[in-house]
Amino acid sequence: MEEDLPDYVPSIGLEVHAELSTKTKVFCGCPTAAGAPPNTQVCPVCLGFPGALPVLNRVVVEYALRVALALHCQIHRPSIFERKGYYYPDLPKNFQISQKRSPLGYSGHVELPVNGELHRVGITDVHVEEDAAKLLHPEDDKDHSLVDFNRSGVPLLEIVSEPDMHSAAQVEAYMNAIRSALLYLGVSEARMEQGQLRFEASVSVRPEDTEELGTRVEIKNLNSYRAVLGAVSHEIERQTKALQAGDLLVQETRLWDDARGVTEPMRTKETAMDYRYFPEPDLMPLVVDDDWIARVRASLPELAEERRVRFVQEYGLSDYDAGILTGDKGLADLFEAAVAAGAPAKPAANWLTGRFLYLLNERGIGATEAALTPAALAELVGLVESDTITGPAARQVFDRIALSGESPKRVVVELGLTQIGDEDQLAASVDEVVAENAEAAENFRKGKEAALKFLVGQVMRKTKGRANPQLASKLLEERLKV
Ligand code: ZN
Ligand code: MN
Repeated sequence: MEEDLPDYVPSIGLEVHAELSTKTKVFCGCPTAAGAPPNTQVCPVCLGFPGALPVLNRVVVEYALRVALALHCQIHRPSIFERKGYYYPDLPKNFQISQKRSPLGYSGHVELPVNGELHRVGITDVHVEEDAAKLLHPEDDKDHSLVDFNRSGVPLLEIVSEPDMHSAAQVEAYMNAIRSALLYLGVSEARMEQGQLRFEASVSVRPEDTEELGTRVEIKNLNSYRAVLGAVSHEIERQTKALQAGDLLVQETRLWDDARGVTEPMRTKETAMDYRYFPEPDLMPLVVDDDWIARVRASLPELAEERRVRFVQEYGLSDYDAGILTGDKGLADLFEAAVAAGAPAKPAANWLTGRFLYLLNERGIGATEAALTPAALAELVGLVESDTITGPAARQVFDRIALSGESPKRVVVELGLTQIGDEDQLAASVDEVVAENAEAAENFRKGKEAALKFLVGQVMRKTKGRANPQLASKLLEERLKV
């Protein structure tokens, strides 16, 4: 009786923890640089020694303000630091300094382009807190765990959304929007593989004809897009099936098992009371004055969504290409600089969204890590537009300049790729191709147009991509048409 089962609507909220890229920690002067030997970037404050006093890092507030204002948040004045009490080996004070009742930013929103429409997701709050130390469990010593306090006190920004997302596509668009905002605002490197961006999802489902949200399940420790999307999809399906079968759901925290693709119960959901939040007596309430807010607001850069719209209008790009370019700040910057250096917009966009992204993915690097310069891209596009080199030759050149940063003109000379656009120069290659491909030549004489394409391809091959294809085609026709 499947048609009698009601349809269920999922509601998904996301908490994002982002490591801020300040030089020093949030409450002490220890450096935050990654890669240092364990426990070398520590002091009494971030080791949690009794009596050590925290001092708030001004740059952390500046960065947090940027994000809060870019996400259209209101700003609490004052905002309050609180102690969130819990016991764990990576937390020597037995509390984390965080913000709860009066977070720096609150009541914001973000607009997501999903399937050609804008979907608005509310931002509940944006608050500052400190990271915990890192626990290490050595493979070769199952009896011990190690603690690295270099991460203890690294500034975190927690961004909490309303449960306004209703599909995996919206969740993915939201993660893209937040990550890209952090990169555009220059406040976090947002590298997931280094744990600089971590997610927790809350998922509930409700019957289509009701308003009230269903029982909420939280899923912890999601460290990649793949994990978030897998966990959310699995949880929607699990909850829907349970309700359709007449089972009750419990409010709980579950863990995502990446290998098996399922969520497992972790513990029943703690309430805010369990954390025993209370104001941190060692820090003053944080008051951000009007001037500071005005200055940060005025300095906010254009974010990805506005930039996407502008790329369509200003450069005549498709929505799709503009979306790909602006989704990656490094790629969009490269594109605009190449256009400023004289490249026509469309070919420049084609190189960057096509071959360039392919090469980056193949090597697992980002746009800013490749050697391609805007001037080199503009020069290459110019060489193609002026018919100095052919499309296939341009691709050989692009592969070189994208990774080595060489000058396209020099690569063209070095590889001998200058286009053959002279009839006499091309004539010999055309004659050889006709002689070597008698059957195709015969087919073309009989009127098979496809045979001509094949023969042009053979001329291109013989000249290592240097022949002007239109000229090759013209010469072949002259020789073969009676
Ligand atoms: Zn320290
Ligand atoms: Mn948190």
